[in-house]
Amino acid sequence: MKKLLLSIGAGLLIIGAILVGMKFWFKPDLVYKRNAKKAAKDLASASKVIEDEETSKIYTFEEASKIYKVDQSLLLVNQEHTIDADFPSDIVEYKDTGVLMNSCITEHYSDLSAAVSEKIGDKLYVMSSYRSYEDQQRVYEEEGAEIAALPGTSEHQTGLALDVYVSEFAGAGFIESDAGMFVNEHCYDYGFIIRYPYGGESVTGFTYEPWHIRYVGLPHSKIIEESGCLFDNYADLFEIGKYYEYYGYEIARMPEDRIEIPKDAQDVLLSEDGLGYVFVTIKTAEK
Ligand SMILES: [Zn+2]
Repeated sequence: MKKLLLSIGAGLLIIGAILVGMKFWFKPDLVYKRNAKKAAKDLASASKVIEDEETSKIYTFEEASKIYKVDQSLLLVNQEHTIDADFPSDIVEYKDTGVLMNSCITEHYSDLSAAVSEKIGDKLYVMSSYRSYEDQQRVYEEEGAEIAALPGTSEHQTGLALDVYVSEFAGAGFIESDAGMFVNEHCYDYGFIIRYPYGGESVTGFTYEPWHIRYVGLPHSKIIEESGCLFDNYADLFEIGKYYEYYGYEIARMPEDRIEIPKDAQDVLLSEDGLGYVFVTIKTAEK
């Protein structure tokens, strides 16, 4: 009898485990939601309050941007948060190649492609980088809504996203190559993320795109990697106005009219998130 009860118990446990597994199998985006919750908790435990008038100063975004470096690295662009046709993307040419990208990513893309050459022995190419609103309109009309993003909803318009490939492995096939595996595993170390990961479709609006890398900068890419959350939910992890310590960085998300910066901060970067707030990223230690 005891044996029978035990095996019934074990059976129920196994069925339970299968049901839980199935829940995540059918709805992989639940994993991202669960991860985001945990990440917010982890960040909260790494937080630090700076509210001493002696040690910090309050600025508006306009004031702060005259003193500190500003880039567009943390701008959220998706179907809900669109950019206008005349959005002033900060575009430069990459190493006389004719490839246009956002000025904040050139150095980091150069490092990533050098790592692919060095570690994998393959050459990384850019299939598509900056696309103007008009270019996107044309792509949308040619390829249709199934494949192309609606103008104003594409990260390519910011120059922060790159579609990369190596010889013989492009598009979905990119992940079949060693270089594709390397980029998908290690782009986070160079400030990039896989913007549309597997299973995130119900949030991102895109199925897995192993070739589409998006620059967000360090340490944000590492936090996204370690927490397993989606960039669409990233800003929500932060409590407004609070500083978080993270591996040699201090980061905070501040309202545009009240940006608090420690007076002794040296290496400060300001990035608008497109949601009405500004990320402050301060490098506190050499890596
Ligand atoms: Zn893309």
